[in-house]
Amino acid sequence: MKELKRYRPKKTEQVCELMKKYEGECKLIAGGTDLIIQMKKSGDKPKALVDITEIEEMRFVKIEEDSAEIGALTTFTDIVENEELKCKYAALVQAAKNVGSPQIRNRGTIGGNIANGATAADIAPILLALNATAFIQVNRESCSCLEANMQASQNTTCVREMEIEDIYANKEADNKRKNMLDSNEMIYSFKFKNIEANEFLGFYKLGSRKALAISKGNLAVLFRVVNNICTEIRVASGSLGKTPLRERELERFLKGKELREEVLLEAEELYSKVIANRLKGRSSVEYKKEAVKGVFRNAFENAFENRDTEQQLCDY
Ligand SMILES: Cc1cc2nc3c(=O)[nH]c(=O)nc-3n(C[C@H](O)[C@H](O)[C@H](O)COP(=O)(O)OP(=O)(O)OC[C@H]3O[C@@H](n4cnc5c(N)ncnc54)[C@H](O)[C@@H]3O)c2cc1C
Repeated sequence: MKELKRYRPKKTEQVCELMKKYEGECKLIAGGTDLIIQMKKSGDKPKALVDITEIEEMRFVKIEEDSAEIGALTTFTDIVENEELKCKYAALVQAAKNVGSPQIRNRGTIGGNIANGATAADIAPILLALNATAFIQVNRESCSCLEANMQASQNTTCVREMEIEDIYANKEADNKRKNMLDSNEMIYSFKFKNIEANEFLGFYKLGSRKALAISKGNLAVLFRVVNNICTEIRVASGSLGKTPLRERELERFLKGKELREEVLLEAEELYSKVIANRLKGRSSVEYKKEAVKGVFRNAFENAFENRDTEQQLCDY
């Protein structure tokens, strides 16, 4: 039987060195809530498991004047309990609160949620709507630090920036690949621009029950309103395609419009058609093409409600 080596490094550079040493034959493990189940199911064993949970510098929430950054090892519970996030990103807190059970929320990390590549990942639509960038670390010898999107850091690692959308790109072309990260890369953190006073962020998850429900469709929406007109909008969904994705038809339809009831009803119909087309041939299509109307509407209304709650909670 193949011997499974285990490591528990305390520094990111050590992780990157191990990933380089094992050249794709080691696995990072954070909370293990996805990985352990997958390894049990598939019987696949990597040569080594690198437990990254002791890298304390990767577990943080930092909200600055213009931007916010969340470490990849931040757990769902960390997010749910963070007062600043409750004030400024209620939708993100709600998405985290909806994940699995208390045990899963205590162990599961947002880095694992994205790196795992599942279409039902609850944090993915929020990060897509926020247009977040992932900061990715790789051993310096495994990369050319001169590449445009790579920054040389002080130590033995390089940092690569990748938009969340690009992490999910190209899945159609290679179904075995769960994300566009290389096997020697580790997500360090996610960063996004802070939302402004005229911007609204909402989330809604459709599950078959309240607790421990894997999403049947989730949606995050971020929009800016100026003089009653929606001047910018990003809509992102999960479980409504092979990967979490931006709903660009819906975005194009809503941008530049006044967000009146008639417009929202038209948007719901349009979205229903988009989903019917995308899921054609799937057994879930009849259900989902109707359900998404409510998912969209609830996410949208949640964005306005969140702003009210945030304002009550926080001193602006
Ligand atoms: C009962 C149950 C219920 C669940 N319910 C939900 C739910 O409601 N919503 C939801 O979204 N998810 C749910 N999940 C899935 C899971 O909990 C999440 O996806 C979780 O965020 C995974 O994080 P983790 O730290 O446990 O990842 P792990 O299992 O440790 O890792 C998952 C994958 O990501 C890789 N990885 C981890 N961290 C990094 C990193 N920093 N950089 C690069 N690669 C990395 C690992 O190598 C592995 O391939 C559920 C799981 C279970 C078992």
